[in-house]
Amino acid sequence: MAVRTFVGGIHPAQCKFTCDAETVAAPVPARVTVPVGPSWVGYKVLAPRGTEVKVGQKLADNEGFMCVPTHSPVSGKVVDAKPYRAHTGLEFLGITIESDGKQELCEGIGPVGDLDSISPEDIRRIIREAGMLGMGGAEFPTHVKLSLPQGVKVDTVVVNGGECEPYLTSDHKLMVERAARVVHGTSIVMRSVGVKKAVIGVEDNKPDAVAALTEAACKWQGIDVMPLKSSYPQGYEKAIIKATLGREVPPGALPFSVGVVVVNVATAAAISDRFETGMPLMKRLVTVSGSAVAKPSTVEAYIGTYASELVGLCGGIKGDLGKVIFGGPMMGVAAPGLDFPITKGTSGIVLLGRQEALFWKEMPCIRCGRCNEVCPMFLEPSEIHKYALAEDMAKAEKLFAADCMECGCCSYVCPSKRPLVQSIKLAKQYALARRKK
Ligand code: SF4
Ligand code: SF4
Repeated sequence: MAVRTFVGGIHPAQCKFTCDAETVAAPVPARVTVPVGPSWVGYKVLAPRGTEVKVGQKLADNEGFMCVPTHSPVSGKVVDAKPYRAHTGLEFLGITIESDGKQELCEGIGPVGDLDSISPEDIRRIIREAGMLGMGGAEFPTHVKLSLPQGVKVDTVVVNGGECEPYLTSDHKLMVERAARVVHGTSIVMRSVGVKKAVIGVEDNKPDAVAALTEAACKWQGIDVMPLKSSYPQGYEKAIIKATLGREVPPGALPFSVGVVVVNVATAAAISDRFETGMPLMKRLVTVSGSAVAKPSTVEAYIGTYASELVGLCGGIKGDLGKVIFGGPMMGVAAPGLDFPITKGTSGIVLLGRQEALFWKEMPCIRCGRCNEVCPMFLEPSEIHKYALAEDMAKAEKLFAADCMECGCCSYVCPSKRPLVQSIKLAKQYALARRKK
């Protein structure tokens, strides 16, 4: 049977150097700066400077629907609670804790009892209280994703094990090493949205993950594991829905419009951890890789650990460092250095050597059409780019710039090295801001 996939996309060099390296458990860091948010506006700090905190204690919360609390990953003393500039360049509220190394647990942390006796509303409340955000990078609050609008019903949960970005292997390692947790978390998500069917989509370049998940899933009813063709951006929500179920999410619509809820494999495993052990989201697997890392590895790290510490655990910097990327090289964010804490959505830290990070000289468009061919959203990147450069955002918007998923496939294949995704991002921001108005 042909392996399933979506339309468009590219096949960049995989560079997945950390698939076979053993996962490293990071030691308890001496200091963490835990980011509050997704956006910190309106958050109330519950542990101001000078507070002694324990592992799992709530540090900040906001009752807004789109908000989740932040918890302490270490026991120790809060030494600062102030805005800091994150790796993205945006300002966030960060709570800095100096660890006492004791890792004393906060009172009240414990497993959830019999799942069958808990209502879907309570499951979503527990997920919110555990600070769950999308761990694939988007950091969208999970309880919001699972709270369907009035009257909307879904029939399938799609669990995203695509991990199509070059270099990144944290989801791959998780699926192999913690397959039972991924499947258990999937069953909790199914119950929270009232469905009997789930599909875990995994690229076929991870046969060990497919095997581990298939074995774990056979103990559960209604959970299938589906190998997908290895192609970028297979891990994008709309692409994996098309690949697994053959359904197309219309432009501007969300997955529930075609009866689907999508969660990432790491989020599913973190939900299982919360129900089995009581632990809120305070740790995650991070790929530390790239030609400028001495010993590329996957690290199990505490949220709020500084990237410099994780790179140090992996042997430090090798050769001339050209670029630091939080996330993968296609959709990640270039950071001005390593002195930034990791967040719940940091799946990788990629360090490229100076030669790899060189900028190419931009040339005129030769109208080859390659950018159109690879766009998974069926957009016309060269045309949107043209209007964005001319600051004619209204025309760019008419060409559905807002539907761009910022995958970068168009820029990747462009022989003239035109900065297509950068200008399309601008047009998209303009379109979204206009819609909000
Ligand atoms: S236009 Fe957007 S969605 Fe299409 S290939 Fe370019 S970055 Fe990806
Ligand atoms: S791929 Fe580059 S050169 Fe070809 S049509 Fe698109 S923008 Fe022009």
